[in-house]
Amino acid sequence: MPDAPLTPVDVLVLGGGAAGLSAALSLGRSRRTVRVLDAGDPRNATSPHAHNLLTHDGTPPAALLAAGRDEVARYGVEVVTARVVAARTVDVPGDAGWDGAGSEDAGSSGAGSDDAGPDGAGHEPVLEVRTADGGTHRARRLVVATGMRDVLPDVPGLRERWGRDVLHCPYCHGWEVRDRRLAVLATGPRAVHAALLVRQLSADVTLLTHDAFAPDAEQSADLAARGVRVVAGRVTAVRVEDDALTGLVPADGDVVPCDAVFVGTRAVLDDAVVDGLGLQTTALDFLGEDVGRAVAVDATGATSVPGVWAAGNVTGPQHALAASIAAGSLAGAHVNASLVTADVAAARAATRP
Ligand SMILES: Cc1cc2nc3c(=O)[nH]c(=O)nc-3n(C[C@H](O)[C@H](O)[C@H](O)COP(=O)(O)OP(=O)(O)OC[C@H]3O[C@@H](n4cnc5c(N)ncnc54)[C@H](O)[C@@H]3O)c2cc1C
Repeated sequence: MPDAPLTPVDVLVLGGGAAGLSAALSLGRSRRTVRVLDAGDPRNATSPHAHNLLTHDGTPPAALLAAGRDEVARYGVEVVTARVVAARTVDVPGDAGWDGAGSEDAGSSGAGSDDAGPDGAGHEPVLEVRTADGGTHRARRLVVATGMRDVLPDVPGLRERWGRDVLHCPYCHGWEVRDRRLAVLATGPRAVHAALLVRQLSADVTLLTHDAFAPDAEQSADLAARGVRVVAGRVTAVRVEDDALTGLVPADGDVVPCDAVFVGTRAVLDDAVVDGLGLQTTALDFLGEDVGRAVAVDATGATSVPGVWAAGNVTGPQHALAASIAAGSLAGAHVNASLVTADVAAARAATRP
């Protein structure tokens, strides 16, 4: 027999990074019962410091999250270390359960027992998730804030330097490597844009095409005008000395010396959560390059599935910490508003003769 669901809550927040904790803060302060389920591996975990975050510039990522957890705890939010391995909307009554073998009536869970849907009309959803440790959790609303995984080009040694001197974003880490020997490792045509951004930080920039694309005449002219060197061909290794990047090794030709390399990544989502819930996603195209997918949301963070909101990098890889915190806060407020609407409808139904 599967474990019985733990006490249902108003809102389950999946993922306790910047976006998830921010949503939880809005919701906890609105006196909602909130449980955050977090696997504990945020996207920027390997970075020594987070930057470009007003009032917290230069703070280590783990310290930011520890402060966030302390803040949400003040409002009764539970943060549980757990990985969600499945998520779904429960159909009541007669739900077939995770394995199709039947489950208890979700109506007895106490979650979602009124008539109003998230828009104030119709069926109120019951959302259920299962965690790797066998736990089952139910709620009236979900905020999906599971972030994304960065898939890097397949160059031996690159992943080991990720967040240190293999960098994803000039706004987050560019200042720290200003005036150094910088490289851009291409994954496609967006590398031209990246190289021109990086050129703002240093006069010594080399773009390595890595056989991912070849700059056209216009792109070559732009790069040449700004003095960006272009090296064609595959990169086969990174050179590291005294625990610091010193160069990129092409298959043919000389090592390209560099102190840091910027690289684009592909955004991979948590399929178990995103596809389990049936959330609509959008294919991401950046300057002609396929860079993954993101959960589609409206301006409030609402997804295509009733009762489910999403915020942060799960909705797009470009959201840095400030944007993820903002999106989480907004989603939390709209989730609370949808519960207020549902509570009003339930109260009115209860007073009907
Ligand atoms: C190397 C690097 C450095 C960065 N540096 C900066 C910087 O300096 N400044 C800046 O503004 N931005 C920076 N960013 C971007 C920043 O990391 C993101 O904006 C931010 O992490 C997005 O927050 P999030 O809450 O959406 O996702 P995350 O922070 O990734 O949090 C998602 C959370 O969900 C959890 N999770 C995932 N799947 C599950 C599951 N199935 N069940 C339960 N929990 C789950 C994860 O463990 C994680 O704790 C950096 C990114 C990278 C890759």
